[in-house]
Amino acid sequence: MSTRTVIISPAPTANGDLHLGHIAGPFLAADVHARYARGRGREVLLGTGFQDTSTFVVTTAHRRGITPAELVSTSAGQIESTLRAMGVGIDGYTGDDDRFTKWVVDFIGRLYSRGRLELKKMWFPYSERTGEFLVDGFASGGCPECLADGCAGLCESCGHLVAAGELIGVRSTLDPDDPVVLREAEVLTLPVERHRDRLREHFAAHASGLRPHMAQAMTQMLSRPLPDFPVTYPISWGIPVPFPEVAGQVVNPNAEPMAWSMHCSALAAENRGSASATEDGLWLAGAGSEIVYFLGFDNIYPFAIAGPAMLLAFDGHYDLPTRYLTNEFYELDNQKFSTSRGHVVWGRDLAAEVPRDLIRFHLASTSPEHQRTSFSRDALARVTDNRLVRPWNRIAERVDQWVGAGPLPVSERSRRAAARMVERFAACYELSGFSLNRAADTITEQLARLERWEATEADAGDFCFEIDVVLRCAAPILIDLAADAIGDRGVTDADRAAVTTVTPARLPRLVSAGTRP
Ligand SMILES: [Zn+2]
Repeated sequence: MSTRTVIISPAPTANGDLHLGHIAGPFLAADVHARYARGRGREVLLGTGFQDTSTFVVTTAHRRGITPAELVSTSAGQIESTLRAMGVGIDGYTGDDDRFTKWVVDFIGRLYSRGRLELKKMWFPYSERTGEFLVDGFASGGCPECLADGCAGLCESCGHLVAAGELIGVRSTLDPDDPVVLREAEVLTLPVERHRDRLREHFAAHASGLRPHMAQAMTQMLSRPLPDFPVTYPISWGIPVPFPEVAGQVVNPNAEPMAWSMHCSALAAENRGSASATEDGLWLAGAGSEIVYFLGFDNIYPFAIAGPAMLLAFDGHYDLPTRYLTNEFYELDNQKFSTSRGHVVWGRDLAAEVPRDLIRFHLASTSPEHQRTSFSRDALARVTDNRLVRPWNRIAERVDQWVGAGPLPVSERSRRAAARMVERFAACYELSGFSLNRAADTITEQLARLERWEATEADAGDFCFEIDVVLRCAAPILIDLAADAIGDRGVTDADRAAVTTVTPARLPRLVSAGTRP
């Protein structure tokens, strides 16, 4: 039995602010589960941060005509403040400081000194004009696995590792007219294939926690030999490595995830007043942490294959992550979010216009849990008006007539109804069946039921009691409404089995998404 849940959402690339797709995917889900689990009295840590070492920082900065360092420094603050604006409560927010980069080098250095990394020649696209190797965001072409067009590193479509040298019709992203050749370079690699049997066993034991798309991709990836994973890259953007065989190279940003996750966990623990002695303390075998990822499907290779293989290379020193809650793409008006084309809604802009409970409710309703889903401003206004704002406000108005009355009696029948509701919501919030879509649906159903209830003097106590229970159950999503009404921010302990009376209080109203707050 775990003593704590460590929830991690991969750090977004520091190449801009967070758009709604980021929030609707991993971040809202991670926050909702964390709030629910804390309400149940569990120890929970929630961490993310920003990643500055991705090559997409360089390509975005180039497109915008600023330096990568300028882009990182503005993005770092934007990402953190947008998470806060959306009410995503992060305990550990990682950055690009010395403590982090030293730990990454230390962690990889331990694999190196244990003899677990091998020097291998690999083919990379190369620009003879600039004298630079093109990896990850620097190289684009067709994915050798699924043929979709994209960049090297990881395929956004199929989730597979994409060796830059194997891209179909490879070209330079920064300068598509620059002729690209293939050239060999020696890099340090992790022979992931050695750990494939253990990875299969691990995921077979935890397969029931995976959503179908990830389960299918993992089965496919683990059913055939896994390619050597480059731990270093022959480029200059990234964390420099101190190993003489690969002097001048940097850490592959997709080889950072396990070291980063440990650092993120340690930082979160420190900020909640329970520091461990070492950066990896919460990850040591037997430390009692359940490691849970909320992540985009395109991130499964580094976090569920290459990363755990690195942990296995420490021979039982570490426990492996057990839960992965994936999401698919969230679109805007049925087209991919695209910052470069301006087809984007920034989380920060929307939160300045619309009460964030409404945004959280709508993103929960439309969260891309199993397939791509789409945001539209019209749908936000219609869905939240019909399913949340109007039903809630009618319920709240009906309660007004009993404010100041009481205490009113609560019946046994109503306590049983409350227990049913608590169970229904728990099924949506517990990791084994976690679903923001169903949690939002359950809020809708319960509000509709309460709205239809023509309460009289005789059952006013039951009516007010059940509203209170729904509110407590909805609190992980409707954070401001719950805090206004119950006063105890984040309270989700909805177990009301012993309640016999209720004293009605005036309930706060919700403001429509069509109106500025
Ligand atoms: Zn692919």
